[in-house]
Amino acid sequence: MLSFENTEIAFRYKSNADLRRARILFGTLANPGLVKIGKSLTYFALNMHLPFAWFIKATLYKHFVGGETLGECEKTVQLLSKFNVKSILDYSVEGGKDHETMQRTLDETLRSVIHAAKHPDIPFSVFKPTAFASQQVLTLASENTTIDSETVKDIQYFKDSVEKLCKTAFENDIPIMIDAEDSWYQPFVDQVVTEMMEKYNKQKAIVYNTLQMYRTDRLDFLKESLRKAEEGNYYLGIKFVRGAYMEKERLRAAEKGYPSPIQPDKAATDQNYDAGVAFTLAHLDRISVFSGSHNEKSNRLLTELMEKQGLARNENKIWFSQLYGMSDHISFNLTDEGYNVTKYIPYGPVRNILPYLIRRAEENTSIAGQTGRELALLERERLRRKKS
Ligand SMILES: Cc1cc2nc3c(=O)[nH]c(=O)nc-3n(C[C@H](O)[C@H](O)[C@H](O)COP(=O)(O)OP(=O)(O)OC[C@H]3O[C@@H](n4cnc5c(N)ncnc54)[C@H](O)[C@@H]3O)c2cc1C
Repeated sequence: MLSFENTEIAFRYKSNADLRRARILFGTLANPGLVKIGKSLTYFALNMHLPFAWFIKATLYKHFVGGETLGECEKTVQLLSKFNVKSILDYSVEGGKDHETMQRTLDETLRSVIHAAKHPDIPFSVFKPTAFASQQVLTLASENTTIDSETVKDIQYFKDSVEKLCKTAFENDIPIMIDAEDSWYQPFVDQVVTEMMEKYNKQKAIVYNTLQMYRTDRLDFLKESLRKAEEGNYYLGIKFVRGAYMEKERLRAAEKGYPSPIQPDKAATDQNYDAGVAFTLAHLDRISVFSGSHNEKSNRLLTELMEKQGLARNENKIWFSQLYGMSDHISFNLTDEGYNVTKYIPYGPVRNILPYLIRRAEENTSIAGQTGRELALLERERLRRKKS
């Protein structure tokens, strides 16, 4: 049976100094009070233009981020590839504000698509919808209300950007994933991504949509997506995640007085995630699946389903993925058993990556057991190395 317990395999790419740094980091993240103060201090320091970036860069950034540029990420990509773990480089700029920034982000993301296509150790490219339109614009487009001419232009800019990225991915034969963010503007994102799949997934899955399985409606959405793909004779690429914005989703629903789109509890999200993955495995002729999760049970279940169906462990339609800096015990043990594994590695300037880092810090504080698990594994490996 597949085990995630082998810390020698899990941390073989980390030096003793790396292990020590990781232990200090996760030890700090285990303290919610410290994380809260750290978050306020960071934003204050950056807003005041205090020279604080070096501190973030030496701590959270070093652990969770590949570098500022594609070139700076290469060392990490090479290191992971030594152990057959592949990389996905994600230019993590969130919340598109002005056109100049969006255009710069588009240029950089296009570079990352071409870079991935040429690189043997980068099997996917990726982008965030909010890099190319504000949340407000995407929300208006999703609500189908009357909109002014400026918004019409912004919507067109978003569509053109997505088209350019998907076309480049198609022409360079590299799959491209579109991240999912808030549910209230996902309808428009889904619509555009579906159009891209119709166009570019005729021979295989190049364009991948993301399904956040903490949402109550995503299993039905998956089934409907398959129906459309069969009818339109194209392939589906699906990236499964549980979803990273639960508190925000619930808060907005309560404030605006609509039913929460999120599953009532963790168990329901877990069940929905596994049901979605199982559904795709039963339809592999039409769907390619990318499972983005740090949940041991879900990862194990996927391997069991593959075995039951007699699939090769390196079946190209099935990929496992974890975020860089988290759950190495899953990534490295899976790859050691022959499965396809990638690490999602964000890159970009410190200031732009802050929302991502704060999410990681909060996630590692708030998810019961996550930090404890990382700390316990790091400590076990330290002791193992000391003895050997
Ligand atoms: C490769 C990769 C790509 C990702 N891309 C995206 C993305 O595009 N969009 C995005 O939103 N997130 C993304 N994430 C983050 C992801 O959505 C999760 O937040 C994170 O991975 C934690 O979930 P888990 O499956 O790893 O495991 P677990 O730790 O088992 O699950 C934690 C998750 O369960 C859910 N949950 C927890 N408590 C409850 C509750 N009380 N009720 C209902 N549900 C609950 C939440 O979704 C929470 O994040 C990505 C993660 C990975 C690994």
